[in-house]
Amino acid sequence: MDQSALLELFAQKKRIVITTHRSPDGDAIGSSLALSSFLMKEGHDVRLVIPDAAPDFLHWMEGSDSMLNFELLPEACIEAVEHAEVIFSLDYNRLERIASLGEHVMASGAIKILIDHHIDPADYFDFALSDTKASSTSELIYRFSEAQGWLGHLDKAIAECLYTGIMTDTGSFKFSSTSADTHRIAAHLMDAGLVPEKVHSAIFDTNTYDRLQLLGHALTKKLEYDAERGVSIISLSLSEKNRFHYKKGDTEGLVNYGLSIQGTKMAVFLSEELNITKCSFRSKGDVDVNVIARTWFNGGGHKNAAGGRLDMKLEPALSYLKDVIEHKLRH
Ligand code: 5GP
Ligand code: MN
Repeated sequence: MDQSALLELFAQKKRIVITTHRSPDGDAIGSSLALSSFLMKEGHDVRLVIPDAAPDFLHWMEGSDSMLNFELLPEACIEAVEHAEVIFSLDYNRLERIASLGEHVMASGAIKILIDHHIDPADYFDFALSDTKASSTSELIYRFSEAQGWLGHLDKAIAECLYTGIMTDTGSFKFSSTSADTHRIAAHLMDAGLVPEKVHSAIFDTNTYDRLQLLGHALTKKLEYDAERGVSIISLSLSEKNRFHYKKGDTEGLVNYGLSIQGTKMAVFLSEELNITKCSFRSKGDVDVNVIARTWFNGGGHKNAAGGRLDMKLEPALSYLKDVIEHKLRH
């Protein structure tokens, strides 16, 4: 399928489902809500389906009340997928990333469109805008919408969604994925009424007392640093998280503190959940955490930021991680 086929596809009103990945972040929700608004303004019937809840600090975004949560409303989500004529995959490129919803997407006869910036997309779509150099999926939604001629619909609310995605995925425009185009797009978003300070404050100035206490605990009691290998590890058990009344999103960005230690090449954050331990990886330079996450941690992502999961409690997960670091990685 090519660009002209896309124009033809969207020339008539369609039933469209937008999906994004499990544990959705600012880019997942921002890109999905923005695309959803563009499509609705074009007159399409749009459902936005998320595998599980978004963190509280994203709830202010316009349209976030109308997202269908697969964990809470599985039947409604499955029905939406089964009736869709077009299904978008945003900010992920393998159907495992949307839990068992992936099987329904796979079985659907809908036209599948992938818009994403992760490495190695699986081959299940009819059209892909897959660019690993792009700062964020939100930047790609801007480009995609421009190509379809939809930018006339760009308003303040859409601009806030796209800016949220770009800002959160670039660490506030500081990661190497931030290009001149990223800044040009941000400028266009400001022309559409965006006030960056408002978005920044809505995302970052919403700490609870408990969240800061949890951060303090993690940094003072749970941060291990191996200076020889340049590896930092933070690990939190379920009971530690409960002690600080953990809410989804409370540990967002925690792994970056490990990476900020001078001389660190790789930072890992292990977070125990009910039946699994979630793993987050960040790295600098040539250390490829996408490969590490994919090879040993059932995950993937980008070269310098990746994630995965282990079917283990925290203690065995921590031992396993240290074993991989000591015996499998070249230093
Ligand atoms: P985070 O550490 O913030 O959860 O995720 C960092 C990056 O790794 C994101 O780009 C995310 O899409 C990717 N990622 C996180 N968890 C997983 C996972 O379980 N599987 C895969 N394939 N990628 C993941
Ligand atoms: Mn992203």
